[in-house]
Amino acid sequence: MSVIFEAGEKVLLVDGKGRRYLITLAAGGAFHSHHGIVQHDAIIGQPEGTTVTSAGGQKFLVWMPTLEEFVLKMPRGAQVVYPKDLASIVLRGDVYPGAFVVEAGAGSGALTLALLRAVGPEGRVITYELREDFARLALANVEAFMGKAPNLEIRIGDIYESILDRGVDRLVLDVPEPWRVLPNAEISLREGGLMACYLPTVLQVHALAEAISRTPGWTPASTTETLVRGWHTDGQSVRPDHRMVAHTGFITTTRKLAG
Ligand code: SAH
Repeated sequence: MSVIFEAGEKVLLVDGKGRRYLITLAAGGAFHSHHGIVQHDAIIGQPEGTTVTSAGGQKFLVWMPTLEEFVLKMPRGAQVVYPKDLASIVLRGDVYPGAFVVEAGAGSGALTLALLRAVGPEGRVITYELREDFARLALANVEAFMGKAPNLEIRIGDIYESILDRGVDRLVLDVPEPWRVLPNAEISLREGGLMACYLPTVLQVHALAEAISRTPGWTPASTTETLVRGWHTDGQSVRPDHRMVAHTGFITTTRKLAG
């Protein structure tokens, strides 16, 4: 079914050079581009994929942003998990429809959004965040992208101190010292549950892998890094892009044994 743009929605305008602008539609509103004004009323009521023309004659394609586009454009507090890693974390963390997921920290909510999508309406996500301002930002970003999320709960708290939840299917951590979560993970994860940790440096990966191997009841750490290289495809010029996002972080997983 076609999506018809409504006031209050966040939409993405893409110009002929591929530049992207995220705007919030408002009746009577105006987007000031380098090539003159685009009236929001020319977008409201139109279907997704429509073209609008600014007063200066510049054409813009208008879309609901994809999750990838939204994450790169949304307001950030903490560093967000980059799209290539969001995809890998969801798969390597085996986050499935209906799963009960505990996350930390919420940060700007990029990973929270990817987890909510993966668990779907039948699943649940509880995210622990130390800082109230980040919790507010994460919730605002989630709601800006997907509206109210009744299956999301944000808890202000330190995940090193405690996890209140039991029978958790998947634990997804983007905190600096995830090895400090192991004792709580053991209590809160169900048998066969999986913990996925995202870490920027190899020393952190080492500390985590060592802690896992010293703690009975966990499978050996499995670590990967995801590199994604974009390609330029324009007529005869088909080649890798000159620039790429190289290092972001490592993903380390382990599973909780029964017994
Ligand atoms: N994954 C997030 C970014 C998280 S940045 C995103 O994609 O947007 C790391 C976050 O963890 C920060 O917001 C920080 O405040 C929070 N944090 C750090 N230690 C924590 C802890 N022990 N318990 C809960 N949150 C913590």
